[in-house]
Amino acid sequence: MLRIGITGGIGSGKSVVARLFATLGVPVYDSDSRAKWVMATDLVLREQLQAAFGVEAYDGDGQLNRPYLAKVAFHDAAQLARLNALVHPRVGADFAAWTAAQQAAGYAYILKEAALLYESGAYRTLDGIITVFAPADVRAARVLRRDAHRTAADVQAIMGKQLSEEEKLARADYVVYNDDSQLVLPQVLALDAGFRMGNK
Ligand code: ADP
Repeated sequence: MLRIGITGGIGSGKSVVARLFATLGVPVYDSDSRAKWVMATDLVLREQLQAAFGVEAYDGDGQLNRPYLAKVAFHDAAQLARLNALVHPRVGADFAAWTAAQQAAGYAYILKEAALLYESGAYRTLDGIITVFAPADVRAARVLRRDAHRTAADVQAIMGKQLSEEEKLARADYVVYNDDSQLVLPQVLALDAGFRMGNK
């Protein structure tokens, strides 16, 4: 079974493109929402986070205290590295278990969707990477339309932490152009046909 990553800068349309693959019956691992789920439900991780950041990391109902963690870790590089060092192995274990289940179910390939596949090093554990491309100005406009709570400055700050589109394009094994230069669905169908035949 092939394990293919799908990435792209914020607003590139990687969630939309991943959903097209999902409608073709391809299992898609959404790293962002799975990481949130693991942090909410993994009891080993809960103990580790409380030992590292204090019992306040979870509230009285056992819910992850996201505002607290954001306050202690998101603006401090050393604390953020500590948080990631605890969370990443548990999410990695979740991905491994999920992948094994898809393999047992007989799928030809799966997709792992993540904004930071290159930046996190996760690309090394995958058989190939699709980059969804759209230029920065188009991405910024889409995100401002999608996310009422984000300002143009927020979007620029997020983009500043991601590899440039040019760099991602240079490193990609496959590209889906979502910049209105060509139709998206035929690109997805062509990739899907190749992966089903086991082509890397
Ligand atoms: P990402 O997951 O890469 O941040 P999304 O898939 O959420 O991006 O797409 C960002 C926003 O742009 C969404 O609201 C989506 O519906 C919209 N969008 C995506 N592709 C296009 C497109 N080709 N034309 C217009 N809007 C698009």
